Amino acid sequence: MRSPIEGYLRELHADLSRLRGGVPYQGIPAMAGVNPDEFAIALATVDGHVYQVGDTQSEFSIQSISKPFSYGLALDDLGAGPVDEKIDVEPSGDAFNEISLARDTGRPANAMINAGAIAAVSLIPEAPGATRFERILERFSLCAGRQLAVSEEIYHSEAQTGHRNRALAYLLRSFGIIETDPTRALEDYFRACSVMVTTPDLAMMAATLANAGSHPVTGVQAMGLDAVQRVLSVMTTCGMYDDAGAWMSTVGLPAKSGVGGGLIAVLPGQLGLAVYSPPLDAHGSSVRGVAACERMSRDMGLHFVRAA
Ligand code: GLU
Repeated sequence: MRSPIEGYLRELHADLSRLRGGVPYQGIPAMAGVNPDEFAIALATVDGHVYQVGDTQSEFSIQSISKPFSYGLALDDLGAGPVDEKIDVEPSGDAFNEISLARDTGRPANAMINAGAIAAVSLIPEAPGATRFERILERFSLCAGRQLAVSEEIYHSEAQTGHRNRALAYLLRSFGIIETDPTRALEDYFRACSVMVTTPDLAMMAATLANAGSHPVTGVQAMGLDAVQRVLSVMTTCGMYDDAGAWMSTVGLPAKSGVGGGLIAVLPGQLGLAVYSPPLDAHGSSVRGVAACERMSRDMGLHFVRAA
């Protein structure tokens, strides 16, 4: 018997396929020519069911949806105290690439904007036999439940054009927020953004956060509980950048968007949602992704006030 959720997702997908507007991200040349019509929705529950519709096999770069997972790794490695010294937990209300550093200390406002995310990556130590980026990729893979890989093409494209992020990294180094080689931190940040995922991968990563850091299918504890609590809190206040207030009012779930067209939302204790559709709104979030989450939140009563 087909689940009512599958039927619901199919209708939602067909309905929102008609939605036009937005432009795929042009800031990274290797991503500019993406097919704007690709559209997928996936929902993963904490007991391991995945419901999916649309272009669910399509792979795209995770971009800023990497940020909560890198931040979680830094928190697990160092504990909240040392991470907080370098990265604040306040919403900036700014765009993703804004230079929002505290005037006197250079501390980025939060780990969801680029400055804070580059700083978070710089804090993650190497391990015996594993580079920092290998550890990041392993962490993302544990959260997804399968081995993920980097698009070298997208990585190189961003590394050649990411001048603003390069400036941010050097600014962070000048303030002592980054204490190591800013170029290495930046490379690892660009690589983290270039990890390729499908929509069901993202739904599983979101469901791992919903499931207190334990992967719903493999049972592996991919992120510590304290880190999950912090990550979801910062996603709630800062995950949607300068759209965070409107998002919380209408959708009411911790979330993170990426300029690759992916978007995740988390209902703690219950499920993870993911949407992929490349055309972006003025905030850098997927137009259909935002619309799909608004509809699902309303139709399924997912807003944290109602879901309680
Ligand atoms: N790699 C992108 C950047 O750093 C990520 C931005 C985003 O997805 O919001 O500019």
